[in-house]
Amino acid sequence: MGKKLEELRRLFGVVIDIDSSAGVLEWDQQTYMPPGGAQGRAMQIATLSRLAHEHLVAEEMGAALEAAESEVKALDPNSDEVRLVRKARRDFDKARKVPSEWVAEFRRMTALAHPVWEKAREKADFAYFQGPLEQIVELRRDYVDFFAPYDHVYDPLLDDFEPGMKTADVKAVFDELRSEQVALVREIVDRGTPVDDSVVRQKFDEQRQWDFGVEVAKALGFDFQRGRQDRSVHPFTSGFGTGDVRITTRFDPTFLNTALFGTMHEAGHAMYEQGINREFDRTPLGTASSLAVHESQSRMWENLVGRSQAFWVAFYPRLQEVFADQLGSVNLDDFYRAINKVERSLIRVEADEATYNLHIMLRFELEIAMMEGTLDIADLPDAWNAKFEEFLGVVPPDDAQGVLQDIHWSGGMLGYFPTYALGNLVACQLWAKIAEDIPDLDRRIAKGEFEDLLGWLRENVHRHGSKFEPVELLTVVTGTGLTAQPYLRYLREKFGDIYNL
Ligand code: ZN
Repeated sequence: MGKKLEELRRLFGVVIDIDSSAGVLEWDQQTYMPPGGAQGRAMQIATLSRLAHEHLVAEEMGAALEAAESEVKALDPNSDEVRLVRKARRDFDKARKVPSEWVAEFRRMTALAHPVWEKAREKADFAYFQGPLEQIVELRRDYVDFFAPYDHVYDPLLDDFEPGMKTADVKAVFDELRSEQVALVREIVDRGTPVDDSVVRQKFDEQRQWDFGVEVAKALGFDFQRGRQDRSVHPFTSGFGTGDVRITTRFDPTFLNTALFGTMHEAGHAMYEQGINREFDRTPLGTASSLAVHESQSRMWENLVGRSQAFWVAFYPRLQEVFADQLGSVNLDDFYRAINKVERSLIRVEADEATYNLHIMLRFELEIAMMEGTLDIADLPDAWNAKFEEFLGVVPPDDAQGVLQDIHWSGGMLGYFPTYALGNLVACQLWAKIAEDIPDLDRRIAKGEFEDLLGWLRENVHRHGSKFEPVELLTVVTGTGLTAQPYLRYLREKFGDIYNL
């Protein structure tokens, strides 16, 4: 490696160290910090974020970047060196548009908003959270202005999570998905053979749920030497380099799916980060390609693996052993149908695969309305309920099960939700390719063997970190950019079978 590139890496290492430290504090905030720590923690995180931003946008960084750019000019454009410098340039240019004071204020506000959201959710009363959310949306409008001109006010937000993607692209994909998914759900409800999921809605001891989840996560390939699991209100994954990637989960004592599939989901996220090339640690390439690609990994392990028949051929006997009273006399086929029940339900993270994207589309439309200023925050709960009825045919009984269910807005993460739906598409697109490359994939999964699958993902997706932008990565791996067809085909086949359509 050349001297100039080494200097650029050194400077970026400092930024990432500070960011990771803030990340550890945020992880702590959502897991172990006592409530009294909220004010102090907000200041600590704000200070670290401002520091990281100041280091990132410093003149010294700009000079190092230019020097590195000329140093790697003659190298292969697909080399790690060139890609590292290119990603550093992108991060630097974006950060330069945003004042450090804004960064500190945003992080302080969102750190303070988090416990308020938790309380509002506990009380099932949006009124508590209205003020903080108004301030957050206001800050987000300021943020977007730093990136003017843009095609759509939502574009700069989306670009932070899904590099290169435009609001218009998402709208086009969602338009294609929506009619198909609504039609499928209607068919299932109108003429599908009903599925009874009472077997997963019994009392399940929490410690046993925890132990079984850990057993599954280990079997899939989550490395507990480089990660851990804890409890939180909202499950999440948080990584501080490839050597320390943490997941959280939550439990419902009367619903098996919550922790079981939540754990597989987060383990999927975490295995992605654990699989990034270690050489990329403390560099701009040491992160996921995008959040849609990130989500493709979690959804793949949760659904394409975890909710498949093959997976339960391997794991159902063990689950029956752990919960003998509840499942001892339930056959595999009934269990498989139960975990795949399609329902017009209220909670996104527990939604089945057929309805899931509808939960996302309604959030996407509401976020756009908030950012365009056509929706007052005070009216958000009503707008939420109206859209919910339009998209899913049910109205939430209270705000906790409605507009307050997700953590994202309290963290200022507007522009994030669409990546979940896109992640489902990416997962199926990759899966089609994996099935070609590993012809006996199902048989292996049915034996509880995941090395080849994980190995394929490591080789084709994980190790690259953010060396490739998402569409480029997909094109390299599958031969085409993002397409909805494999996903729609998968849904049709799977649920056509389960519901005898
Ligand atoms: Zn996820």
